[in-house]
Amino acid sequence: MDAELLRRYLEYYDDLGIKTLYRRATPVSRLDEIKPAEAAPVEPLFRILEDIGDCRRCGLHQQRTKIVFGVGNEQTKLVFVGEGPGADEDAQGIPFVGRAGQLLTQMIEGTASKEGILLLRKDVYICNVVKCRPPGNRAPEPDEMQICGQFLARQLLAIRPKAICALGSTAAKFLTGSKEGVTRMRGNWYRWHDMPVMVSYHPSYLLRAYNQTAKREAWEDLKKVLHFVYD
Ligand code: URA
Repeated sequence: MDAELLRRYLEYYDDLGIKTLYRRATPVSRLDEIKPAEAAPVEPLFRILEDIGDCRRCGLHQQRTKIVFGVGNEQTKLVFVGEGPGADEDAQGIPFVGRAGQLLTQMIEGTASKEGILLLRKDVYICNVVKCRPPGNRAPEPDEMQICGQFLARQLLAIRPKAICALGSTAAKFLTGSKEGVTRMRGNWYRWHDMPVMVSYHPSYLLRAYNQTAKREAWEDLKKVLHFVYD
């Protein structure tokens, strides 16, 4: 990267309110290893779904009921990325429809309405790092994320949102390459390709009763991302 490009990047980060920058080691499974040239050029989402087909590219296909591709407005300015389908999502083929999903919907619609932003769940796009349910709701393995992540990359490049909200540590680490815990990352802007990524907690984590502070923080994160995108 030449000095001029670096200066423009730094200015851009400064505009986003990012005052501290870190150099990171290159992790193994980073989505931004997939350069735009390697991923398909901008394409409609249905083409990506067609390509996924009856996917058997990794072991997760063995126990899945339905592939959970993604749902929402393809022309949206805001995409939420979770970890992977749970039991309800596996049964219905739609992301975030279980308890965590209901909380996510309430958070999106409730926060938007409180902030005077006209926004419903159907206006954003919601998807996951992996499209098939990991057995017993375990976290996806690095090879599963690497294989399935190419489709997430293509979805994001196809939609080109103004911002991405990474829900929980799997999505956050995978999109940003950071090894930091989500507690440290949340509330901060990162970047995937040229798209700003806000990291926040996963709604499942927020469902645990003792997490009042985390809930408040998640609401703050969401406010930040909603104002960035819709103001
Ligand atoms: N948790 C996720 O990460 N994604 C879903 O779709 C549902 C629960």
